[in-house]
Amino acid sequence: MKNLLAAIAVLIVSSVTAAEGEVASAPVTIVIHGGAGALAPGRYTPAKEAEFIAKLNEALDAGYAILDEGGAALDAVEAAIVTMEDSPLFNSGKGAVFTREGKNELDASIMDGATLNAGAITGVTTVKNPIRLARAVMENSVHVMFAGDGADKFAEQQGLEIVDPEYFYTEHRWKSYEDALKREKEQKDSAINYDFKYGTVGAVALDAGGNLAAGTSTGGMTLKSFGRVGDTPIIGAGTFADNKSCAVSSTGHGEYFIRLTIARDICAQVEYAGKSVEDAANDVIHGRLETLGGGGGVIVLGADGAFAMVFNTPGMFRGVKSAGGVNTTAIYGD
Ligand code: ASP
Repeated sequence: MKNLLAAIAVLIVSSVTAAEGEVASAPVTIVIHGGAGALAPGRYTPAKEAEFIAKLNEALDAGYAILDEGGAALDAVEAAIVTMEDSPLFNSGKGAVFTREGKNELDASIMDGATLNAGAITGVTTVKNPIRLARAVMENSVHVMFAGDGADKFAEQQGLEIVDPEYFYTEHRWKSYEDALKREKEQKDSAINYDFKYGTVGAVALDAGGNLAAGTSTGGMTLKSFGRVGDTPIIGAGTFADNKSCAVSSTGHGEYFIRLTIARDICAQVEYAGKSVEDAANDVIHGRLETLGGGGGVIVLGADGAFAMVFNTPGMFRGVKSAGGVNTTAIYGD
């Protein structure tokens, strides 16, 4: 399926030619993910699968509608991610996983491929949509990253929607938290390996002006320690975008993604080694990440509209919508 999609993307890209006298516009495309992990067929009931697919389609449509009207890649990325943050299905915004202390602490980042401007936040507890806060940091501060109380304070100053921390609570995540504690006690599982598997969300987009953008948002990993920062808010690990190469959003075991600067590595391979986005993503996920023993996946979008969705876990919630008519979502691997 992955290869088929990539082939379709290449076909579409190569068939986009400007009529004489017209300025060629980029083949607008949005690619999203909703987390990678132990997602093998049979993991969900057909009804639950349908719920996930419907929400992925809603997120794709929200982002694509903006691109289709000539809007900016950054706006498309934000709109797609907000849709998933507002859904309890994913581990971001509402529905985030719980820390060891039983709290929800959220991370997010966004990057503009045209300017290399970026914004990131970590450990926020009261901002309804962390991706909007990351964008506010990028656009309305002289900094790149805000953490904890300072980030929440900045959100208030920016007039972003503030919620009671209770807003992020969901019963199913609380149950996962309790299960994780139990498993740890019984020494069945290392807590940190237990539940990274579903739900971080991310989007990459290419607009008609040829600009790339990437964003990622998460609750992190179940039972994460106080003060733990994952890859999601780290520019170059969880998120990267540069019009010269590609846009990437990551999901998986964050500690590995930080150590391998996964997102930056993929775009560096595209830029410096001239690799396709698919080859670069395969090298990093199936080569470097696997060698180190890490698990997860990435979505990657090139400046020419070629895309890749690569993971070394059994599945990854994912979807693509492009000007050439690619419109697809999936949960499980091939
Ligand atoms: N990468 C996220 C983190 O380590 C978790 C995930 O993608 O599921 O915080």
